[in-house]
Amino acid sequence: MKISHACVACHSTRLRSRSAVLMPFLAARIFGWQPTTITPEWGLRDIDAGQAYSLCATLMCDECGMIFLDMRFDADEMDALYRDYRGAQYTELRNRIEPGYAALNAMLREGGDYTAQVEAFIRPHLTCDRPRVLDWGGDTGANTPFRAEAVRHDVYDISQRTLVEGATAVTEDEISPGAYDLVVLANVLEHVSHPTATLRLVTSAMDQDTLLYIELPYEDLIRHHHSDDERLALKRHWHEHINFFTPDSLDHLLRNTGLQTVNRTTKAVTVAGRERHVFLIAARLA
Ligand SMILES: [Zn+2]
Repeated sequence: MKISHACVACHSTRLRSRSAVLMPFLAARIFGWQPTTITPEWGLRDIDAGQAYSLCATLMCDECGMIFLDMRFDADEMDALYRDYRGAQYTELRNRIEPGYAALNAMLREGGDYTAQVEAFIRPHLTCDRPRVLDWGGDTGANTPFRAEAVRHDVYDISQRTLVEGATAVTEDEISPGAYDLVVLANVLEHVSHPTATLRLVTSAMDQDTLLYIELPYEDLIRHHHSDDERLALKRHWHEHINFFTPDSLDHLLRNTGLQTVNRTTKAVTVAGRERHVFLIAARLA
């Protein structure tokens, strides 16, 4: 794990910082760290007694407004967090630390039920009826847009879950540029340590004819609070979403990775019975 000293969207080093807590589930699953109570028996001269959690920092970029966790997990740590995502071990640990999680898990594993809305957004920009689709970070492939009519449905994902019928697991090495009409990157960028590097890898699977569909949360913190100071003051805990994008930070990110936005909108969708807002973006190589 490294600490970020530059914005993960626009690379500016003009950052502001506030103390925050790394949520106990992440601290436990990635590092094996447990919250504890510091008592006078610890014999620490300069530390007060009290409840101790894993500290981290919220960073805010003065250039583009991006809000993000200072910790950037490495590949092994990402693997520890996301291997068999929402599987038995993950759920058991998370339910122990966050009671009630298991009940939500079954619904979350199914993903959202808004594929039709996504397909309606993408369709005007597709140049064929039966696309070859790569779903980057597509989990089981259950929510891949156009999977019913796709002539090819490839999924690249580190969670290693069993894929839906008709989907083929591919490794990074097996992905060749120009092999796809549509590349999907849905609900990935909010989780990754290096969004620019991830997006560069994704663009290496594209050519001039490939359409890229990006979907990511339009977090309530960004939607409801428009002042930078307010956002920074309110974001005091970090869970799996380690990147909170603003419209401005998305502009920077896409430009920095050689992409041109073809269309962008926001939508309210329902996932596991809860309303959440997402950005839908269609992009091509610039
Ligand atoms: Zn920035």
